[in-house]
Amino acid sequence: MILQQKIQDSERPFLIAGPCSVETEEQINQVVADLAQNQKVQMLRGGIWKPRTRPDSFEGVGEIGLPWLVEAGKRHNLPVTVEVANPKHADLALKAGVNVLWIGARTTVNPFAIQDIADSLAGTNIPIMLKNPVNPDLGLWIGAFERFQNAGLTDLTAIHRGFSVYSHPKYRNVPNWEIPIGLKEQMPHIPMICDPSHITGRRDLLREVSQKAMDLNFDGLMIEVHPCPDEAWSDAAQQITPDRLKELFAALVLRATHIEDSQVLQLEDVRAQIHSLDDKLFEILVDRMILSEELGVFKQAHNITILKEDQWKKVVSERLASVDPAIMSQTFVRNLLDVIHQESIRHQNKVMNSKRG
Ligand code: PEP
Ligand code: MN
Repeated sequence: MILQQKIQDSERPFLIAGPCSVETEEQINQVVADLAQNQKVQMLRGGIWKPRTRPDSFEGVGEIGLPWLVEAGKRHNLPVTVEVANPKHADLALKAGVNVLWIGARTTVNPFAIQDIADSLAGTNIPIMLKNPVNPDLGLWIGAFERFQNAGLTDLTAIHRGFSVYSHPKYRNVPNWEIPIGLKEQMPHIPMICDPSHITGRRDLLREVSQKAMDLNFDGLMIEVHPCPDEAWSDAAQQITPDRLKELFAALVLRATHIEDSQVLQLEDVRAQIHSLDDKLFEILVDRMILSEELGVFKQAHNITILKEDQWKKVVSERLASVDPAIMSQTFVRNLLDVIHQESIRHQNKVMNSKRG
């Protein structure tokens, strides 16, 4: 099977579903039988070896679970995928007949581990799905793809599962959408799957994140599904039943990726207006930087520091208070002010440290 081709040829989104962990043969048989009734499900997932944060958590049933998943997949004519974290896992999974391997976020982060797995698979062309690394580092994610490509493995797919943070009020792993978008830009031939289960960590947010992925033109979704989610041995709070998966899928709005000729002109008009506003925005920024340099000249002449914390705090708080958060988020306003301020400091610094004329 060529996974990239299968994803490209299939109706969107390419849907991968199954439990966080393979627990018992009965659990797998039950969930796979239910998932097979859902025409939209195209591949089954199940964790056999679970990389858990604490050693007292359930760490997977191990290789005994491989035939349970592989046989269930064969019975319903669905390919299966498992996570592998080292060459031994990869070897056992291949021997058991697993169709697609996936690399977890805690493995992608480690180039030595990726290299070992890539070397051990050289000569096969097993499809591999690579989750993003736990930290938001696009280069590290791309590097993992390159290690597999260099080993001759070309059937590669990306899975966006979000990025670790110490604590976040909403997400288990923050999405940082610009990183999968960056990967799509730099490696456009790699299909992109979103894993809303690990991004959200909670089932009530799955729909919102899945919809966002669809609106960003992702190719597929990987969602954790369990016959009795609350009793799952791992990641209970984020798993859903096969019925809830159907509801979630039915509620997704799938938008066209191509526009009709008649819509092109309309869109071009709006784009042209935006472009002309961007021109103005940049003209204003240039004028602002010129004024920053004037400030620098003044500060140099009077020998005073660039940064006045109180002054800057006042500018930020007044601006935040003046912008309607329904129109522009406070985070956006704050980030925008920060980048403008940094560039302004750079200009002042340049002037102040130049030789007096
Ligand atoms: C998983 O898919 O169950 C898993 C462990 O994911 P991640 O590597 O994204 O943490
Ligand atoms: Mn999980």
